[in-house]
Amino acid sequence: MTPTIRHPLPDDLLLAYTTGSLPEAFNLLIATHLSLCVESRATVAAFDALGGALLDSLDADPDGEAGLEAGLQAVLRRLDQAAAAAPARPARRHAPGIFPAPLQDHVGGDLAAVRWRPVGMGVRQAILKTGPGARARLLHIPAGAAVPDHGHHGRELTLVLQGAFSDAGGRFARGDVEVADPQVEHTPKAEPGEDCICLAATDAPLRFRGLLPRLVQPFLKI
Ligand code: ZN
Repeated sequence: MTPTIRHPLPDDLLLAYTTGSLPEAFNLLIATHLSLCVESRATVAAFDALGGALLDSLDADPDGEAGLEAGLQAVLRRLDQAAAAAPARPARRHAPGIFPAPLQDHVGGDLAAVRWRPVGMGVRQAILKTGPGARARLLHIPAGAAVPDHGHHGRELTLVLQGAFSDAGGRFARGDVEVADPQVEHTPKAEPGEDCICLAATDAPLRFRGLLPRLVQPFLKI
């Protein structure tokens, strides 16, 4: 069953994903989210179609003018095709588990393949190998526990894979993404009942208020 995604990715990030201008950690998170979110898949398909049609119309008429109308028609046709095709594309899955295919490919398996390290307060993390520009990590937050209160020096995307967490931004369950930026300060708290497992990507260190988190921060690369 496809879960209802209440917090899909915003269009600006999906467009940046389509154009290939994001660091690998963000691409991994977005590809994983797309496996779980029909709405975001349709948006990416539409951006792909738009880009393809624009290139076609440039090829056909490099100077613009006459090709404009034909180009517009081609864009509309492709958007129709994308809208028809996107929701039908099923989420690819290698093995039963909680990691969608792109994440399983990256980790080399599902949850059992993850090597967790404690980061304090019962929370565990596993930093994933990615290229420069941003970091990706898996987070395991025990049911009912909270991540220490923090702000952000850059962008932080958090995709829920199991369980759910809540903060001032709302409630986030499997497939949802919370997007935090330097204006956001939060204390994500896992719901009772089930441990919360998330994939997070950040392009700058977090900003912790508490002394203890600040002291251990460099060692945790968080
Ligand atoms: Zn945060």
